[in-house]
Amino acid sequence: MLDYLGLEADLTQEERMIRDEARRFVEEEVKPDIGEHFENGTFPMDLVPKMGELGFYAPTIDGYGLPGVGDRAYGILMQELEAGDSGLRSMASVQGALVMYPIYAFGSEEQKERWLPDLGTGDAVGCFGLTEPEHGSNPSGMQTRAERDDDGFVLNGSKTWITNSPIADVAVVWGRDTSADDSPVRGFLVETDRDGVTTNKIDDKLSMRASVTGEIGLDDVWVPEENVLPGVEGMKGPLSCLTQARFGISWGVVGAARDAFEAALDYAKDRDQFGGPIARFQIQQDKLAEMATQITNGQLMAYRLAELKSRDELRHQHVSMAKRHNVRMAREVSRTAREILGGNGITTDYSPMRHLANMETVYTYEGTHDIHTLVIGADLTGIPAFE
Ligand SMILES: Cc1cc2nc3c(=O)[nH]c(=O)nc-3n(C[C@H](O)[C@H](O)[C@H](O)COP(=O)(O)OP(=O)(O)OC[C@H]3O[C@@H](n4cnc5c(N)ncnc54)[C@H](O)[C@@H]3O)c2cc1C
Repeated sequence: MLDYLGLEADLTQEERMIRDEARRFVEEEVKPDIGEHFENGTFPMDLVPKMGELGFYAPTIDGYGLPGVGDRAYGILMQELEAGDSGLRSMASVQGALVMYPIYAFGSEEQKERWLPDLGTGDAVGCFGLTEPEHGSNPSGMQTRAERDDDGFVLNGSKTWITNSPIADVAVVWGRDTSADDSPVRGFLVETDRDGVTTNKIDDKLSMRASVTGEIGLDDVWVPEENVLPGVEGMKGPLSCLTQARFGISWGVVGAARDAFEAALDYAKDRDQFGGPIARFQIQQDKLAEMATQITNGQLMAYRLAELKSRDELRHQHVSMAKRHNVRMAREVSRTAREILGGNGITTDYSPMRHLANMETVYTYEGTHDIHTLVIGADLTGIPAFE
């Protein structure tokens, strides 16, 4: 596996074990039929509990049956999962960073005990409802409302493009609490079997096909007061979850790019044209050298991000830079890898085109490339250019 600057030589024993376990899992349990799942538009549901058993959901949390590993180990895990497919890493990211993290960071002790063990084993599936039909890049404009009634809240609104909503047991829904001054954004744990909740599946995706995506409809849905996340108010709640998830994406996409590169390198050495392997042509070597260099750049960013995170010095703008850079890198690398595979490259027999299609989603979700550009621009100049 490409590790040109020998970064993996510095891994601890624990990190190596996690890498090896995740690599084995992806080779044995994911790669054999992920192409078929992608074609059929299905997520391999049998892997949900298996990923739980292996401790792939929110592994940095200590307690509640979770292993409490370091940030770099978590990044390496995301990298190996996304080498299988972005749908798999999305499953782990949403469950861990977007559902378990807010419950752990902002939830009551009862909420943690109710949900973290079940989500950790995959006995329960969660989803994160922030995006709305009219509010994507600008989630603070959200229209979902929570009105207080005696001992709870009544929720109304709709969320869209929600990973896992059709298979989720619980949704972390962000909405405005109209009972408080300035209607602050608050997080609500909404069990999906409550009256008034609908979770229609979005079909016909041409990207991220091996992942379930849907809507969340909330029509006078009552939740008790104890379902409100007590520890946070305002956009800081959802945005801090997104920073966690984007950290995982910055690592994950390096895995997708690496897998596309490995497929292209093998193919170039195997495929004969004009009396010998296409890998002997300088044009193909230029492509391979450029891909390897860009992936190595992405790896360096990811490793540095983990270092900053473990020192508690990571700013959300750092994560924006890495997410923006690494996703664009993975998109370009998977496209070049697809080229090297010629006609065979457009089939699901090989991974590059599937990774390329997935990158269209990853480029857009968790803050589009453009929005992260504006975040970095605002940080550098002190002048926000969002409006
Ligand atoms: C497969 C998939 C899974 C997803 N999963 C989830 C999930 O689990 N939970 C969740 O809440 N959301 C999820 N999303 C939603 C995702 O986060 C949004 O699609 C994303 O935030 C962009 O919003 P939008 O699609 O409404 O695009 P828009 O915000 O309408 O943007 C359209 C275009 O305009 C550009 N643009 C917008 N504002 C500006 C600006 N100020 N300056 C310059 N350009 C601008 C954007 O960069 C983009 O190119 C998912 C999306 C997909 C595709």
